[in-house]
Parts: sequence; structure tokens; C-alpha cells
Amino acid sequence: MEQPRLLAVHAHADDETITMGGTMALCADRGVRVVNVCCTDGSLATIVDPEMAAREAEVRPRLAEIRREELTRACRVLGVDEVHWLGYRDSGMAGAPTNSDAGAFWRADLDEVAGRLVAIIRSVRPHVVVTYDANGAYGHPDHVQAHRATLLAVEAARVGDRYPDAGAPWTVSKIYYTAFPRSEAERIVALAQAAGLPPPFGDTPIDELGFIADDAVVTTGVDVRTTIPRKLAALREHRSQIGPDFPMLLAPEEVMVKEFSVEHFSLALTRVAGGARESDLFAGVAV
Ligand SMILES: [Zn+2]
Repeated sequence: MEQPRLLAVHAHADDETITMGGTMALCADRGVRVVNVCCTDGSLATIVDPEMAAREAEVRPRLAEIRREELTRACRVLGVDEVHWLGYRDSGMAGAPTNSDAGAFWRADLDEVAGRLVAIIRSVRPHVVVTYDANGAYGHPDHVQAHRATLLAVEAARVGDRYPDAGAPWTVSKIYYTAFPRSEAERIVALAQAAGLPPPFGDTPIDELGFIADDAVVTTGVDVRTTIPRKLAALREHRSQIGPDFPMLLAPEEVMVKEFSVEHFSLALTRVAGGARESDLFAGVAV
């Protein structure tokens, strides 16, 4: 039997753990080969950890290297088999002048980015690819660019005369987008309120949160309760980005396992038969 393979394409170190760390660990437990691509160096991110932030002058120039180490450790915790760094510069938040800096991922030539992803796809030969929706999940230019390049690459990877030096053609069976359903956000707000915890999304009304997906487009809920402890451990490895007050780390572990045991996805493209609702990214994939 062929080994099932999952390829995740993410913009920054930490996106993989926040959006699908439980699913990555679960796939690894089930014998799936799990490969993560990190498109940028994350060098412009806010330094969240108070001790590191206090040493910003020293930490900032090394942030790309620090985030690389953090991602390496987090992926080890999650059982990820292989990590690829595309090494583009972080573009900063939407509208920031850094969006147009030389080397910024947002400015990178899409054909070039797609070509590099085609080479990874033809080498890994994933059955399932996960990235973000067209809004990049929440509008960050690096997430939008990851979405565009991934879709282009998945299609180009099938066609032999596209990027002919990047390996033999490979057809991906399914593409998913990470998703955070509105109903889930509402449930979390209510739970935090009942537990006397601070509002997990601050004062912003749910309708104004950029990362919320309509429940109607969310097709897939993966039960990750067995891997939540590893997801939380991987989140803690992203120390520069994720502090102890991060919403997922505020609740006790047993509450996380009980209440936040599902990661959600939207099926964006499929070449296999399947139902409208699924609980497994590999449903219908013949391997
Ligand atoms: Zn990100």
C-alpha cells in the first residue's frame, strides 16, 4: 500500500500549528507522511514574549533564525516529517510600506513561487494539500500570496510541459483551506464568558473578525482530541509569537481537549468521490 501524503503550505512559522497542528499530529499518528512549507522568514512579526520583547534590539535582527528554530521544534512535536523554507521576506500586515520591499513575499513573482512549489509537489507527491482561502484566511498579504501560489502550483504540477525541469507530473487529489467557522467563534465567546475568562477575540464583534468562515463553506471537521496536548506543546515552542495569554493556552488542557477538539477545513478542489460533509482529509483518496 502506498503511504498517504499531506502537504501544508503556510505563510509564517506558527500558522501550521494554530490552524491545523492537531490534524498534522493525527495524520502522523496514522502513518501519513506530513510535509510543511513555510513561505516567509517571519522577520516583521510582533515579538510577543515579554522577555524577548524587552531585548528587541538584539532579538529583532535574529528573528528569522529564531522563528526557524521554533518551527523546527514545533514540527518535531507534531511529527512533521519534512519542512521546507521558501525564505521570502515577511511582507508585514496589509497596506504596510514593507509590502513592496525587495524580497518581500508579496512582491515575489508568482510564477517563480509556483515553480518552487511545483518542485516540492512533484517530489513529495501529496494526495492532499492544505493552504488558505482567497482572503488568506484573514487578509495578510503573505497568506493571500500563499493561496495564489499554491493553487497555481497544484494545477501546474499536473502538466508535464509546465516547469519541465521540476520533476515528473503529479496530480493532487484534494485541496483544502483552513477554516474557522462562525458558529465555533460564537461558541468560544460564550464559553469564555461563562468561565470568566477574557473575551478571546477582544472587543471586536465576531462579524468584524477577518478570519471567520461562513459555516456553509466549512465541509470538514477533524476530531483531534487525541493530539491536543501535542498541539498545545507545539504552540509553546513558538515562544516569540505566542505568549501564555494566547487564547488556546489560557484554558486548562482538559478543557481544550473537551471543547476544542475539532479543526475545520473547507474542501476547495477534489478529484475523488466524497460526501458534502467529511471528518477526514483523506476521505475517498485511494492509497
Ligand atoms: Zn501568518
